[in-house]
Amino acid sequence: MTISDNLKKIKADIPQDVRLVCVSKFHPNETILEAYQCGERHFGESRAQELLQKQSSLPKDIYWHFIGPLQTNKVKHVVPIASLIHSVDSEKLLNAIEKEAAKLNMTSHVLLEVYIAQEEHKKGFKPEELILFFDEQRWKAYPHIQIDGLMCIASLTEDTELLKTEFTTMKTLFDAIRKRFDNDYFKELSMGMSNDFNLAILHGSTMVRIGSSIFGNRNYKQ
Ligand SMILES: *Cc1c(COP(=O)(O)O)cnc(C)c1O
Repeated sequence: MTISDNLKKIKADIPQDVRLVCVSKFHPNETILEAYQCGERHFGESRAQELLQKQSSLPKDIYWHFIGPLQTNKVKHVVPIASLIHSVDSEKLLNAIEKEAAKLNMTSHVLLEVYIAQEEHKKGFKPEELILFFDEQRWKAYPHIQIDGLMCIASLTEDTELLKTEFTTMKTLFDAIRKRFDNDYFKELSMGMSNDFNLAILHGSTMVRIGSSIFGNRNYKQ
């Protein structure tokens, strides 16, 4: 199967109004260009250095999504070039992004990452923390940040029931926040990866982040 075949197959399963982010981390420029030539313009990267290199050497009409853990000392590299930072997992990071965006006189678009999985990925805001964040209107402290929605990484599991529970929790939280944070732009729910995107879409995902099903396995030893 070529990248073009993989994309056709995946896109047949994704409704028009759900955004496909092609997760290109650990894949070289030539691989990304294959997807680009198929018409894809949204790519996801998880490391600041890699994002920088790719952004500077690939076509300028690509929208880069930052999806990995972001250290505050890397914020200055990511803010100017990321069209959306999916993985904002603390107020400390919001502060760092605000500072950088203010310096550049721009608005940085972010999603808040929710800690939802039962294991491993122990990152992100807890649902009750986020409710408080919006109840107390703490977003007002960040005039140079636009919070476009929420993101999660579900448990890495074959257990469909567990995944359903996690996606349902996300959708419920998302709706609860929309009531408190009544903005036209708070509308993105980034959830679903290669193994679970169909289920995520059924539960209200608006953005799926798909890597290995498009590009094959990643070579971590580059
Ligand atoms: C790597 C990664 C993906 C893509 O995972 P696949 O299983 O290869 O589709 C999606 N989201 C995040 C946050 C990732 O780090």
